[in-house]
Amino acid sequence: MYAIYKGKEIEVLIPFECKQCGKCCEELSQCVYDPVERKVIAENELGLFEYLEIETESNSPVLIKPCPFLEDGKCSIHPIRPESCREFPLGKNLDQGIGCPALREIHEKVKGLESAIGELEFTGRLEE
Ligand code: SF4
Ligand code: SF4
Repeated sequence: MYAIYKGKEIEVLIPFECKQCGKCCEELSQCVYDPVERKVIAENELGLFEYLEIETESNSPVLIKPCPFLEDGKCSIHPIRPESCREFPLGKNLDQGIGCPALREIHEKVKGLESAIGELEFTGRLEE
């Protein structure tokens, strides 16, 4: 996965490697599934339902906190983790994303690059 930065006439891709520190799991105030994912979860029969509450306003399933699926700093339901977990440290978490050590490390690297190739701005995108 790469973090994408934009310069004047250049796009720079910096490798993003999650450190699996579990910080996002602890910091996310809510782990919310997209309402469409509800059906998928129900069909998976993975016992997730007993750990979900339904947020009345958006009708979205939300995992109870602290998250019961954080095991030794790793997500034990990684392929089916909630949307808000998948988008961390981006989206609405981007401002808090600076607390993500992997993203913070990248921003430091970029500062070093800027003296050679000019100012770079984070696009807010991570891509495979
Ligand atoms: S805070 Fe960042 S480095 Fe740590 S687990 Fe979350 S995404 Fe990975
Ligand atoms: S579902 Fe996984 S990624 Fe999300 S908070 Fe729980 S352990 Fe972390």
